[in-house]
Amino acid sequence: MATALESLMDQRAHAFATAEHGAFIDGAEIAPSEKTFSTVDPATGEVITTVAESEDRVVDQAVQSAAKAFEGEWGSMLPADRETALHRFANLVEENAAELAQYDALEGGKPIAQVEGVDLPLAVEQFRYYAGWPTKIQGATVPVSTPNAHVYTRRMPLGVVAAITPWNFPLCQAAIKLAPALAAGNSVVLKPSELTSLSSLRLAQLAVEAGLPAGTVNVVTGSGAGTGQALISHPLVNKISFTGSEATGRHLGAEAGRSLKHISLELGGKNPNIIFADADVAKAAAYAATTAYFYSGQVCFSGSRLMVERSVVDEVVEAVKEHASALVLGHGLERASTMGPLASAHHREKVERYLNTVEGTGGTVAFGGSRLDRAGFFLQPTAVIGSADSDPVVADEIFGPVLAIQPFDSLEELIPRANSGKYGLSAGVWTNDVRKAHNVAQQLRAGTVWVNTYADYNAAAPFGGTKSSGLGKDCGPDGLDKFLESQTVWMSLA
Ligand code: ADP
Repeated sequence: MATALESLMDQRAHAFATAEHGAFIDGAEIAPSEKTFSTVDPATGEVITTVAESEDRVVDQAVQSAAKAFEGEWGSMLPADRETALHRFANLVEENAAELAQYDALEGGKPIAQVEGVDLPLAVEQFRYYAGWPTKIQGATVPVSTPNAHVYTRRMPLGVVAAITPWNFPLCQAAIKLAPALAAGNSVVLKPSELTSLSSLRLAQLAVEAGLPAGTVNVVTGSGAGTGQALISHPLVNKISFTGSEATGRHLGAEAGRSLKHISLELGGKNPNIIFADADVAKAAAYAATTAYFYSGQVCFSGSRLMVERSVVDEVVEAVKEHASALVLGHGLERASTMGPLASAHHREKVERYLNTVEGTGGTVAFGGSRLDRAGFFLQPTAVIGSADSDPVVADEIFGPVLAIQPFDSLEELIPRANSGKYGLSAGVWTNDVRKAHNVAQQLRAGTVWVNTYADYNAAAPFGGTKSSGLGKDCGPDGLDKFLESQTVWMSLA
C-alpha cells in the first residue's frame, strides 16, 4: 500500500505523512515519546504511520511553552506586528494549500477536490479575516455616575488556550480556533483528533515560518482520554475551545466548571432542512442531497433531517436518490472521488447501529444502507423515510451518509416538530414566499438559518448553536470576543 499511497501524493506530502510524529513544542516537533498509536487510511484500512500519544509530561511542556510565549515575545508584540505575522501565516497556508489538503484527504478520507475547494479557502479566510483585528480591539470609557472618576476598560487576552478539534475538518477547525485566539493575543496548545494529526502539525511549522514566536502555537497529539484530558486539566490553561461531540462537550463543560476555566463549545446538530411545495423544488432537492452526503454526512451542520411538504415528497425523494446514485465513492486522494469512506471502522459501526433501528420503529430504508464490497470504511449514501420525530434516526446526530426524510402537512404542524430535537445548530428553509421564509426563520430555534441556500459559511458571519449544540459562536466579532476579557480601570480625578 505504501507504493499506492506514493502514487497518490506528492513526494513531500508523502514523506511527511508517513514519517513518525511527536508533539510540536516551542517551535519544533519533538521525538515521539514511548507511547504511540497508529493512524489508519480509512479508504483502505491500512496503517499510515505512528504518532505520539503525548503523555502528561509532554502536555505540561507544551503548556509551559505557550505560557512563556504569552508572558514574553508574543504577549508583548505590538498589534500591528501581530497583524503582519497573521497575514504572513494566511499567505503561507494559501501557498501550501495543495500539500495541506493531502493530509486531510488521506487521514479523513475526504475527496481531495472538496478539501482544496472548500476546506483550504475557508482556513485561509479565517486567518485573513482575524489578521485584521489586532489593531481594532478597543475598550471603552465608561460614563459612571460617580464624582471625580475616570473609568475605562481594556480588552485583554485570556492567556493559554487549549484548542481541541475533531476529525471532520482538521485544518479548518484548527484555523477557526487559532485565528481568533491569536488575533486576540493568546497563545495556543492545539490537540487535534487522534485520527487526523498531520495538517495541524504542518500548520504549526507554518506558524513558526510566518514569524510567530516559538511557543505561540504548540500541538499535542494523542487520544482524548489521555492527552486531551491532561490538557484541559492543566492549571495554566485558562480557556478551552472545543469542537466535537455533545458527550465530550458536556464532560469538558463540567471540568471547566470545576477548575473555573473559560469554555466555548461547538457541538452536534440534527438540522431540519425544510422544503415547502412553493419552492424551487429541483434546486432545493439538489442542495438537500449535496448537504446530506457532503463528506459522507460527517458534518455538524449537515442537512441530515429533510422535512418536505407532502405534495412534493415523491419528487424530492426521486431527485435525492438520483443525486446519490451519481456519487463516485472512492479514495479521498483519487480526484474522481466525490464521496469517501467514513472516518473509522468504529464510526461506521455506530452509523450502522442506527440503520438497524429503522425498520423496527416503522421507518423504511428508501435507498442505500450497505457497505461497499471493498476495503475501507465505505457506506452507501442512504435515505430513510417514515420515521417518527422521536426515533433515533431522526432525533440523534448520526454523523454519517444517512438522510432522514419526513413529510409534513402544515406550517402549524411543522414548527414544533422542527424544534422538537435537542439540538439547535442550523436549519434550511426553501420557499418562494418571502413572508413565510422570515416567519419560519424567526420561529426556528437554530443558531443559523439558511433560506433558499444551505451551508454557506464565512469568517465574518457568526456561527454556533443553541440548546445542546453548544455555547458561544465562531466567526465574526463574536468569535473574537470569546478569547478576550475586560479589565476595568478606575482613576480618581479628585
Ligand atoms: P468524535 O466522536 O467526533 O471524535 P469527540 O468529542 O470524541 O468526537 O472528539 C473531539 C475531540 O475531543 C478529539 O480531539 C478528541 O480526542 C477530544 N476529546 C475526547 N475526549 C476528551 C477529553 N476527555 N478531554 C479532552 N479532549 C477530549
